[in-house]
Amino acid sequence: MAVENINKDLCVGCGECYRACSADVIRMDKKTGKAAVTYPEDCVLCAWCILSCPVHAIIFNGSKVSPVFTSWG
Ligand code: SF4
Ligand code: SF4
Repeated sequence: MAVENINKDLCVGCGECYRACSADVIRMDKKTGKAAVTYPEDCVLCAWCILSCPVHAIIFNGSKVSPVFTSWG
């Protein structure tokens, strides 16, 4: 797991993280209108959601290392 939560107080429900995630980790919560980390075990820490969020609401666990990043080095 890498991305593990969304700061609901910061999230404005724009959906950019949901659209950015090709791993289907993030879904939009229909009740709150905000993003939710639904399948955290599938996150590969590509960071597209983090880069796409205009309010820096995405919380990730830095102790996990992406296999994408380790393959570079
Ligand atoms: S880091 Fe990548 S895989 Fe993980 S939730 Fe964000 S967009 Fe999806
Ligand atoms: S990109 Fe940020 S503000 Fe937009 S829905 Fe995702 S967490 Fe919320």
